[in-house]
Amino acid sequence: MSITIKNNEEIEKMRQAGKILKQTLDLIEASIYPGQTSSHLDNLAYNYIISQGAKPSFLHYQGFPYTICASLNDQVVHGFCTDIPLKEGDIISVDCGVIWQGYHADAARTFPVGNISIENQKLIEDTKESFFEGIKDIKAGSRLGHISHKIQVYLESRGYGVVRELAGHGVGKQLHEDPIVANFGKYNSGIILQEGMTLAIEPMSTLGKRDVVLEDNDWTVSTLDGKTSAHYENTVLITKDGVEILTL
Ligand code: MG
Ligand code: MG
Repeated sequence: MSITIKNNEEIEKMRQAGKILKQTLDLIEASIYPGQTSSHLDNLAYNYIISQGAKPSFLHYQGFPYTICASLNDQVVHGFCTDIPLKEGDIISVDCGVIWQGYHADAARTFPVGNISIENQKLIEDTKESFFEGIKDIKAGSRLGHISHKIQVYLESRGYGVVRELAGHGVGKQLHEDPIVANFGKYNSGIILQEGMTLAIEPMSTLGKRDVVLEDNDWTVSTLDGKTSAHYENTVLITKDGVEILTL
């Protein structure tokens, strides 16, 4: 599949998908506390997205059974929703996608449950910051590897593991389009970014080693050493002068 360049009409649809997705993540954030369940958060997200006349991107995607991915503690991505109450000190990564008139937006946040350790707080903040570091100074004409390299350096220089088995991606009419946006790589490598490209950029970091395993449900990816993991993702549009973040 080749990389798609979006026209203004397509971009406007993705902006609207991004706006609804941002509101969904805000609603989830406000509903996270000890005792809450990820199944309930999943219901909240589903109901809100439908109420806006949009559709969830993930539900039934290749058989995925939920509106959100809820990845707890050592789970990196694609966590299943459960009725197990969240506990004080947990961290939970929530990944969600919204389709508006046939166009997707994709974003993820890691949230604290009550009071969390300083280590986990730093992990969450630094993972978020690595995203902003990755897109800093990026514009049409930049190379894709700039993003990958800057995310990697930002996180590894702070001692975190950077997960390599999963990556960001193009997004638009399809949830996953080309190109692959790795969270590691060489600065001066990769395709030249063009105005109208839309990318989901999503660093995934760990407090321990970067190695991951696939759980028995064939979806959920967890750290091999059991250390916690954080995820931060936005859908961005490449413009002449920089990037426009569609999910903030
Ligand atoms: Mg996502
Ligand atoms: Mg994504």
